Amino acid sequence: MGALIETAKRATLAGAPQPATVRAPEIEPGVGCDFDSYLLTPDHALDERIARAKAQLGRDAVILGHHYQRDEVVKFADFRGDSLKLSQQAAATDARFIVFCGVHFMAESADILRQPHQQVILPDLAAGCSMADMAEIGQVETCWAELESVGNLQVVPITYMNSTAAIKAFTGEHGGSVCTSSNAAAVMRWAFERGERVLFLPDEHLARNTAYKMGIPLDRMIVWDPDKDLGGNTADAIRAARVILWKGYCSVHQRFLPAHVERVRRAYPGIRVIAHPECRWQVVQMADDVGSTEQIIHTITAAEPGSTWAVGTEIHLVNRLAKQLTDRRVMSLDTSVCVCTTMFRITPQHLLWALENLVAGRVVNRIAVDDQTRQWAKVALERMLSLR
Ligand code: SF4
Repeated sequence: MGALIETAKRATLAGAPQPATVRAPEIEPGVGCDFDSYLLTPDHALDERIARAKAQLGRDAVILGHHYQRDEVVKFADFRGDSLKLSQQAAATDARFIVFCGVHFMAESADILRQPHQQVILPDLAAGCSMADMAEIGQVETCWAELESVGNLQVVPITYMNSTAAIKAFTGEHGGSVCTSSNAAAVMRWAFERGERVLFLPDEHLARNTAYKMGIPLDRMIVWDPDKDLGGNTADAIRAARVILWKGYCSVHQRFLPAHVERVRRAYPGIRVIAHPECRWQVVQMADDVGSTEQIIHTITAAEPGSTWAVGTEIHLVNRLAKQLTDRRVMSLDTSVCVCTTMFRITPQHLLWALENLVAGRVVNRIAVDDQTRQWAKVALERMLSLR
């Protein structure tokens, strides 16, 4: 089983009913087809053309912008947020087309939760997520078989939202649940009511931070390296473990180090450090606050004017907060730029190309999860949503 992704760059609408409000193309002849020609579009023309295409599509298209998206793109988003919230918001609209300015697993999640008449578009198919790609379905199936070979371990799988549709489906099919960075503890508690051990995919750090905060000592956690037999563990170590941490990480959040916390504390006495739970355990231990993107926004927005914040998350979100909250000081925990390079692949040119093709009646870069994968992934998502 696996997600069937339509990678054809020009899946046409032939045979599909045309959206009622999509009119005959009002764009320049020749545009909307070949992406390469968009690379030559002058910057000053991009905004105007994106706005025009968006207006032409009207309610037929909804644009989603993840918090980590660049400003030139996110300013056109109808909704901003994290991947789950955005997928739910898009599914609650009448829009036929969901243009997801995020990364691949986010577009898959939107496709899992969408209404039957909706189609999801990822403006650049190369916008992946290094963390999601660290757990391939074949590796996870091998891991599961190896765990079964050790004995009756009663393992409940949990996968972070930041995983492929295939991993979400695996989790649903094997009695587990999805979690987000804000409800990971609640989902872990739910899992421990059903089994003795948790296999947490694909983020080692979120799993460790969550389990430790719940009182599980570090020596009851093991890391599963998919490139090694039994994940690099002995059968006894697996039997003794309560949480099995998949060896995966976010390339952005893993960059924050304890030395960065020490540096900002020295440079800015009284500074508050807030870190995303995808950061390393040592960094999270040293931080004053820990939270998801939404929680980071909420905490800093609600803080007293004049306060100073160092934030351990992606730079576009940090810079946006710094620009919006001018009565307090907001900076990145790391002075080198911590950017999500894959999300950064979605450029205004990609957004314009996707929108103008829709105006011309063509769906490009559609992300479509196959029915079986969707069914089981939805089971895993609904288990999480039932806990709220
Ligand atoms: S910030 Fe990290 S987890 Fe989020 S999309 Fe980028 S690589 Fe993936």
